Parts: sequence; structure tokens; C-alpha cells
Amino acid sequence: MPQSLKALIFDVDGTLADTEGLGHLWAFNQAFQEAGLPFVWDTDTYRVLLAVTGGERRIHHFLSTRPDLPSLSRERVAQLHQRKTVLFGERVQSGHVLWRPGTKRLIREAKHKGLKVGIATTTHEANVHALLQSAFGNEWPSWIDLIGAAQHVENKKPDPAIYHWVLQQWGYGPGDVIAFEDSSPGLLAARQAQIPTVITMNEWTYDHDFTGALAVLDNLGEPGAPARVLIPKGQDNVVVDCNVLQQWLEAER
Ligand SMILES: [Mg+2]
Repeated sequence: MPQSLKALIFDVDGTLADTEGLGHLWAFNQAFQEAGLPFVWDTDTYRVLLAVTGGERRIHHFLSTRPDLPSLSRERVAQLHQRKTVLFGERVQSGHVLWRPGTKRLIREAKHKGLKVGIATTTHEANVHALLQSAFGNEWPSWIDLIGAAQHVENKKPDPAIYHWVLQQWGYGPGDVIAFEDSSPGLLAARQAQIPTVITMNEWTYDHDFTGALAVLDNLGEPGAPARVLIPKGQDNVVVDCNVLQQWLEAER
């Protein structure tokens, strides 16, 4: 008898919503500009910087590669990042950050079927709340059981700590859940925790290495607009629902 799926765990940035270009990147640049700093991140720069998880680490890493720019103290970077988080929240509230196809539908279906839904992210919890509010309104806590965010673990993805933390909170094993990610660091984090992982690629991550993923798609699909399946090979386009997920799990066992 195949083990049945008990919970879905979602990454936030790039997976639940298209947060990067019109959200985080915009907010970083706005914060730099407000602070009078002499640099702007373009999309090519940001694509490379996405490999560094966590906003403060991302700013420090960028400055370490640019000795021509003035160096900033830890405190200054922390302040910049705080302001960036506020700007991001405002950006979400003003409707500039869109949820990806199929994400809200799948969360609703999973909850109706009695599964748990959790979040495993390296982003700040305030960003997550803003996004959940934008999708589900004040009712969002009835759709999301658990949020694992930046403050819960020391090491960010690709370290598996945040996935271990979520599993531990629920008392579940890695075979009880499926993770949803959009990037190679996210996939590495989930796979190091032994969690089967579905990848929904996006414009920032389509060239990442997704070896070891349970499935790779362009999104989760909606009725009338199914997703393109790259892995498993030979599958038609699908609208990802709990039955599809269970079939993929059983095929891999
Ligand atoms: Mg992501």
C-alpha cells in the first residue's frame, strides 16, 4: 500500500509568486537610491546574485565583488535591508507581485483534502505575511499551517535546515511531504532533507541544474492552461493536483 501524502511545503520567492523582478529587485534598487548609493542592480547582475540567499548576504556579496564601490558597515547593510523589506511589503500590497499559476488552487485543494500546507523560505517572515495576505486576505492563516522563515534557522538554503525544522514541527518524515521550489539552491535544500521536490522554473532559474527533482515544469498549471512537463519525460501537459503528485511519488518509489 503506497504511503499517502500528508503535507505540501512551498518555497516562497519565485515559487508561490513572481517576487523577484517587480518585487525584490525593485525594492533593493529603491532602497539603494533612497540611501544615495551610487549603484543600481540590472537584471543580469541580479540573476547572478540570486545564487546568494538572504538579502543582507546578497548585498555584502555584491560589494565584495566591487572594490570600486564604497564599502558599507554591517549596520548600514542591515538598515538598508530593513528598508528594502518595508518597500517590498508595500510593493506586494500595491498588487505588483503576482502569484504563479496553480499555486493558490493547489493550496486550496490540499487543505480541502485534509493535507497540511507549510512554507519553507529563507526570506523574512514579514515578506511572507504580506504575500499571503495579498492572495488569501485576512483568512490566510486558515490556508497555511506553518511558516518556516529566516528567523527559525541559522543556515539558509541550500542548507536543508529550514526543511528539517518544518518536518520536526509536524513530526513528519521526508516521505510524508512534497516540496515545491523554483531554483537550484532550493532543490538542494529539499533533497538534502530527502524530500521529493517539484520544480516550477521561471525566467530567473530556467538554466539551473534540477537533477534529482521529482518533476520539472514551467508552472503548476490551471484548468484550461495546463503546465508543460519537462520531467518526468513523456508526460502530457498537466494541471498539477494532489492525484498527480501522488502518482509521481508512487512512480518514483
Ligand atoms: Mg525560490
